[in-house]
Amino acid sequence: MYSPKIKEQLIPVIYKRAKREHKPMTAIINELIEESLYKIYYCRNCNNQIEVEKGTKEAYCDHCQSEVYLITSSL
Ligand SMILES: [Zn+2]
Repeated sequence: MYSPKIKEQLIPVIYKRAKREHKPMTAIINELIEESLYKIYYCRNCNNQIEVEKGTKEAYCDHCQSEVYLITSSL
């Protein structure tokens, strides 16, 4: 699969963070991308945590096994 290239200027920054956190650079990059694309929501019915793509309004809750509207914070 096509792998996009990381901007050259970002490499030293990622390198430093990877060293500081004792993780491979790919792990740092993947974490950052995940943080920016996904968000933790809570099921409106049972307050179960659901990780979904940002901006998503509905998801399937494994806990109550139904389609649910999502809320952004726990009550
Ligand atoms: Zn639920």
